[in-house]
Amino acid sequence: MAKILCVLYPDPETGYPPKYSRDTIPVITHYANGQTAPTPKGSLGFKPGELLGSVSGALGLRNYAEGHGHELIVISDKDGPDSEFEKFLPEAEVVISQPFWPAYLTKERIAKATKLKIAITAGIGSDHVDLEAAARAGITVAEVTGSNSISVAEHVVMMVLSLARNYLPSHEIAIRGGWDIADCVSRSYDIEGMHFGAIAAGRIGLAVLRRLKPFDLNLHYTDVHRLNPEVEKELGLTYHPDAESLVRAVDIVNLQMPLYPSTEHFFNDEMFAKMKRGAYLINCARGKLVERDAVVRALESGQLAGYAGDVWFPQPAPSDHPWRTMPFNGMTPHMSGTSLSAQARYAAGTLEILESYFDGTSIREEYLIVKNGELAGTGAKSYKLT
Ligand code: NDP
Repeated sequence: MAKILCVLYPDPETGYPPKYSRDTIPVITHYANGQTAPTPKGSLGFKPGELLGSVSGALGLRNYAEGHGHELIVISDKDGPDSEFEKFLPEAEVVISQPFWPAYLTKERIAKATKLKIAITAGIGSDHVDLEAAARAGITVAEVTGSNSISVAEHVVMMVLSLARNYLPSHEIAIRGGWDIADCVSRSYDIEGMHFGAIAAGRIGLAVLRRLKPFDLNLHYTDVHRLNPEVEKELGLTYHPDAESLVRAVDIVNLQMPLYPSTEHFFNDEMFAKMKRGAYLINCARGKLVERDAVVRALESGQLAGYAGDVWFPQPAPSDHPWRTMPFNGMTPHMSGTSLSAQARYAAGTLEILESYFDGTSIREEYLIVKNGELAGTGAKSYKLT
């Protein structure tokens, strides 16, 4: 019998389950790159479309865990030495956490987690785990690659349009009973004809480029590896060898690279200074990719016309985090990758990974981040340990 420690965000303040606004969600069987959506062997312990990412939803894993004689411990209290996470960690063989409510597995915590064999990210992005320490301790790290890529891509498109068209402040004016059209439009532009740049064109970055193509933007990208020439041609992409060259050329930037030690604070005062005045930056990748106070300075000086995203550091962000109140921001809590649609996929993917782990069969290569003491699968392609 194994102890499975699952760290999830708290239930809705209005109680669980919420009143759902729709009865069904579309069934997605494949992703754009041909990868199949999760295919667990056993039956799902939930109805797709239910809220699974909060404590009472338990990622729909209760039937599987208890049916196989494992103990499933679901908590949300995750930060600080007196947290429930620290209390249960030494006994856990499996830790499951979502990036939206990350249970930070630091090297100090990994040292205390002597029974831990696998850390599963229910979602994408395992930077809340110290990957180097996990590799040294022989812990496997896996995530549900592809499960919420389109969820995030749709969120990014929404933020591009919201910022450029000044949607949120105009909506506020409507709510307040106003009709101040001049105020609404003083910062409102069409994106048609603008230059848009993707920093990283992986699953999400490329999906954003594809979705923006019909808006008649000029599309640019940079990435470690160049996309294949047919894709560049199909989307009319301009490739840049580095981010500096890209930010000088574009009006809107989408940052979509993973966070690892050398990408921390990728956007800082120097990078902002290279952008066109009045550019927009969207970051639904990770909060630490951007230096917190440099964004505030860039918005206050007018170097940036707007900043939007859903990722912060730490998470949850403190109530006085400056990104909550800085001018011209379109921030949301970390929610893009945890729509009810996304949850159905990553909960099924978590079950698939658990089944493979407990059955002793191979975890899909694309789900692996760390295995046998080194980066593996998707981890070997997209992450660096330094
Ligand atoms: P992918 O692995 O598909 O793509 C990441 C891309 O980043 C790859 O093409 C990789 O290059 C590229 N890359 C890595 N390092 C650099 C670098 N230094 N400069 C430029 N490009 C780089 O991941 P996804 O698209 O699925 O996800 C990207 C990130 O988005 C995740 O790591 C996660 O942090 C975040 N995310 C956020 C979510 C949210 O809810 N807001 C949900 C899901 C993900 P290559 O592989 O060619 O070497």
